[in-house]
Amino acid sequence: MNEMRYQLDLLKAMNQKLNAKERMYRLICDTAENAYLYYAFDRDEVFTLGRWDDFFDFDIKESRDIPRLFDAVEETYMMPLRDVLFAEKNHQGEASVECLMKDRRSWVRFRVDIVYDEDDKPVDKVVCAENISKMKTQKDELMYMAYYDGITGLYNRNYFVRLLAEFLRRAAETKTIVSVILIDIDDFRKINDGIGMIVGDELVQQFGSFLKDFESENVLVCHMNSDVYCMAIYDPVGSRSVEHIHKQIQRRVKEPFQLSSGHLLQITVSMGVAEYPEASTSALELINCAEIVMFKSKTMGKNTIQYFDAPILNEFIHNVEIENKLKEAVFQNNFVMHFQPQYFTDGRKLRGMEALIRWKDNGDHTMISPATFIPIAEKNGAIIPIGNWVVEQSIRQYAEWREKYGVDFIMSINISALQYGRENFVSFLMGLLEKYQVNASQIELEITESILISDFKGVSEKLMLLRGSGIRISLDDFGTGFSSLSYLKKLPIDTLKIDKSFIDTVLTDTATRIITESIINMVKTLGFESIAEGVEQEQQFEYLRTVGCDVIQGFLLGRPQPPEDIERLLEELKD
Ligand code: C2E
Ligand code: MG
Ligand code: MG
Repeated sequence: MNEMRYQLDLLKAMNQKLNAKERMYRLICDTAENAYLYYAFDRDEVFTLGRWDDFFDFDIKESRDIPRLFDAVEETYMMPLRDVLFAEKNHQGEASVECLMKDRRSWVRFRVDIVYDEDDKPVDKVVCAENISKMKTQKDELMYMAYYDGITGLYNRNYFVRLLAEFLRRAAETKTIVSVILIDIDDFRKINDGIGMIVGDELVQQFGSFLKDFESENVLVCHMNSDVYCMAIYDPVGSRSVEHIHKQIQRRVKEPFQLSSGHLLQITVSMGVAEYPEASTSALELINCAEIVMFKSKTMGKNTIQYFDAPILNEFIHNVEIENKLKEAVFQNNFVMHFQPQYFTDGRKLRGMEALIRWKDNGDHTMISPATFIPIAEKNGAIIPIGNWVVEQSIRQYAEWREKYGVDFIMSINISALQYGRENFVSFLMGLLEKYQVNASQIELEITESILISDFKGVSEKLMLLRGSGIRISLDDFGTGFSSLSYLKKLPIDTLKIDKSFIDTVLTDTATRIITESIINMVKTLGFESIAEGVEQEQQFEYLRTVGCDVIQGFLLGRPQPPEDIERLLEELKD
């Protein structure tokens, strides 16, 4: 009897324990985010647990209902899901699959675990369904960010380079050409400054979506950064030839872009083209080469296309070398000033001297022309210390010569736009005149039209200020820029220098002669002084004198010379 009682108590206790355990497991299942299905092979029993109802709108009560799950997923995922749900058929212990559901929005990961007995017969099976939609979209977003550019939806630089490398690999096998085109919107910074960055982005996006239409199996389009795009064309023939694409882009940019701000924007683009295998066999180098020639097309006046060739690359490498050396030269002050005399046509009397910088490169003892290094110095900012040195050196030299020879003439100093734009430029100049006790009217600043492009009003005001203090202003290289005679009227200048390119052909080309004479007449009417630059022949001098040009500068009457040679000349004048 006692024995019976003992057995009964034991069973009760075990039962209580089991109930407690079951409650615990149910609680765990119910509070989990997932849905579960349990299947007991020996009893052929099925239970669904957890958040089943959140996942599925049907219940599963018997094992033959399990295939109903296939209907819940998109068709392409049915077979893979079947392999997972019945993994015991392949004698697997666990398996999982990610399925897109019928609603085409949510993603569910099905995971199965199967327990086998000692004889390798399946005993229990648990299927867990987990909602992974959020993770999936985050992953998609990350994938998107890794491959595409957020503004335009085009490939980003990194992914483009990878795909281009793949093009090149294919091209190597099939001996095909691959063209890379770099496309840059001209004056984008000005556009951005003018209309604001957000509207600027819209332009980038609109132009990008136009370029996207070129995309195909053989054409990749990428947004590199800011206003720069790149295309790669596998086997560029027919409708995907560079010429054809160039024409279509030209046609598109002739039409203005309509922006949501109401702006109608007309743009031009500069393009650089480099070809595999001619320019390079590496993806990154090809892009670099296309970029180098794109910059070249910018310097050729923008709105053009430029094809890669070896001389352009050499010029680029040379410029990079100069840029590196230039930093050193500024530091070591490897510059000297030469001076070129200017004479009145009337009586050939000395009118003044133009101060021209010379750079003697200590490495190979060559002289590097300012026409080469000044533009580089303007780009990298070295023009500021160089230009300041030129101004001081020229004024100091003038003071010394006036003291020594007592000769009156004008010292002309070339001023770069960047230097002129500095806030303290006027006070810097005034400080030097004070320091060397030089009269402002003996100093002339040579500026070019490029100064005027950015801010005509601001520049004119500064010119007024300088002229107010007595300094002379001369407009250099007239005829090479936008040279509109009409804006001359508005400019407070004293002298206009007719560019050498006119003088070169003035005796041989009728059109040039007509323009030159009309410039000289206009200058006279406005009350300015005219200087002809680059006069090399006596006939040119005679002609210019007869048509009324005031001053001549050129090799005919004197080359740019070092100070010692100029001193000899001043010595003669003194006598
Ligand atoms: P630029 O101001 O127009 O100077 C005139 C250039 O023409 C000088 O070249 C001069 O040597 C050259 N030239 C004068 N007469 C003749 C001639 O009869 N025949 C030929 N073939 N050439 C002649 P350079 O000295 O090589 O200077 C080139 C340019 O570099 C200058 O053109 C100027 O824009 C710039 N530059 C020179 N020195 C300075 C400087 O100190 N500061 C700045 N910012 N620019 C400078
Ligand atoms: Mg000059
Ligand atoms: Mg000039």
